[in-house]
This record gives sequence, structure tokens and C-alpha cells, in this order.
Amino acid sequence: MTRAALLAAGRDALARAGIGEAKEEAERILENVLKASKAALFLDAAKEVAPEAERHFLRIVEERKTRKPLAYLLGEACFGEEILEVSDRCLIPRPETEILVEALAKQLAPEREFSFLDLGTGSGAIAIALMRKFPLSKGTLSDISEEALGIARRNLGRYGLENRALLKRGDLFGAFAGEEPWDVVVSNPPYLSEGDFRNLQPELAFEPRLALDGGTDGFDFYRRIIPEARRYLKPGGFLALEAGAGQADQVSKWLQGAGYDNILRFKDYLGFDRVVMARINEGLNGKTYH
Ligand code: GLN
Repeated sequence: MTRAALLAAGRDALARAGIGEAKEEAERILENVLKASKAALFLDAAKEVAPEAERHFLRIVEERKTRKPLAYLLGEACFGEEILEVSDRCLIPRPETEILVEALAKQLAPEREFSFLDLGTGSGAIAIALMRKFPLSKGTLSDISEEALGIARRNLGRYGLENRALLKRGDLFGAFAGEEPWDVVVSNPPYLSEGDFRNLQPELAFEPRLALDGGTDGFDFYRRIIPEARRYLKPGGFLALEAGAGQADQVSKWLQGAGYDNILRFKDYLGFDRVVMARINEGLNGKTYH
């Protein structure tokens, strides 16, 4: 079959299975199978695809019809400017999480030297994007899942960042008793509620529940992170959290109640307050930030 015919067959099969962006996905699959750019797919649309590659393409299309996310089938996902390894042992990085990175980029100069902790790092997406935006930053990446940390480690390796990063396994701050405080604590914690799980997109069922499940009302992790993070932040330090759609009010209230200042919110592409950021002006040891 020619490239054009194969793309059309893939697109139609995906569309029949109810996949919204069938054309784009068929293109991404063929790009990945042929290791060719999108431009090349179209320039050489009449070129015959070798039988082995054709089988490979159709195998991925078949599997995608089960609603397994494309990122897992291809083993990689785009996050901002990065292409990261992913597997079904970690959450697939989402475009809205880029807002968390951008929110910090609005507060900190690119040449700023700082330390950060990424709680529940998963594939390492947030930490890697931060380290690439801030060449003088140093990151601690933690996750409760050893397998996720393995993926994060390989992603750090892809970008030559291992020597600026420390990986630690643990349940939120559980891994860090007596540790030096950080300048920034950042997290995209699991935040889906029980109700959200009843209306899941089929793709979400393939992702680790551990990375999505925020308890009955979805807020379990904010209840723990907000009070605890104070002890792990330097005076003047930032706590930056992604929040689920409709959760930002509650998260802001808790931040205020716990003594954080300068609470800021950032909207996602759909207009939801997606990121809440706050500052600790006075450290627990009484030191004040100026
Ligand atoms: N943004 C994800 C979703 O709704 C949830 C990620 C999370 O729980 N942090 O698909």
C-alpha cells in the first residue's frame, strides 16, 4: 500500500472506533513507524510502504481501537519542548501541566539558582521542563512508584540532567524527614474524585490509578501537601500545585488558612483555574524573606 492509502485506512479504522482525532493519530503512528517527519509523509505520499512497516502500523491501529492511549502504544509523549519516554506505569504528561512550569517561569528569572522538589514526579515531565528552563536549578524528584522513578531516571538521561537531579522513593514528604528545605515545591498530585471515576474517558482506565485517584472528593493530596510543605520551604519559597477543574477555590482557601501569602492562579486553555501558586514569606524559623 502507498503511504497515503495506509494513512486513510488507519484514519478510517480509528474513526470507526470512535477516536476523535483519527487523522492526526494515524499520522503520528505512521511517523513513528517509518521514523519519518510529517512533511516527509506528505511529500512522499505515493511511496509504497514496506510490508513489515505496514503490518507494524496496522498492529498499532488495532491496539489503539481498544482505547489504550497512543502515548503508551508509541512509548513516548510530548511535553512542551520535550519528548519523554512513558509506559503504563506512569501518568501521561498533559498539556495543562505545562501551565505549572510556565507559572514558575513567570516568577523566577531564567538565570536564578534554586532547588526544587517535584512530588509525585511520574515520568519526570515537570522536573525536566524546569531544569531545562532554569539551567542553574537542581531538582529532587520523588514518587511512591519505583517503576515511575525508573522512567523519570531514563528521561533525565535523555536530556543529560542526571547530575542535577536526585531521585527518591517515598509517599509525599515521608521520604524527607530532616531534609534541607527547598526554594520551590511543585506537584501535580492525583486529584480525580470518586465521581470523576464514574465518568472516565476510556483511555484513563489504562493509566495507573495511583497517579489519578485523589480520594472521595479528589482533595486528599492537597490536605496533606499544603500543611506539610511549609516545613520544607525556605522563607520566600514557592509552592506550586496543579488542581483539577473546579478545585482551585478550595485549594486557595486552604493555602490561605495554612499561612501562605501571595496566592496566584493560572488558567488553562479551557479557562479553568488550573494552577495555584503561593509563597511563604516567613519561614518557620522566623526568618523573613525580603
Ligand atoms: N489531568 C488528569 C486528567 O484529568 C488528572 C491528573 C491528576 O489527577 N493529576 O485526565
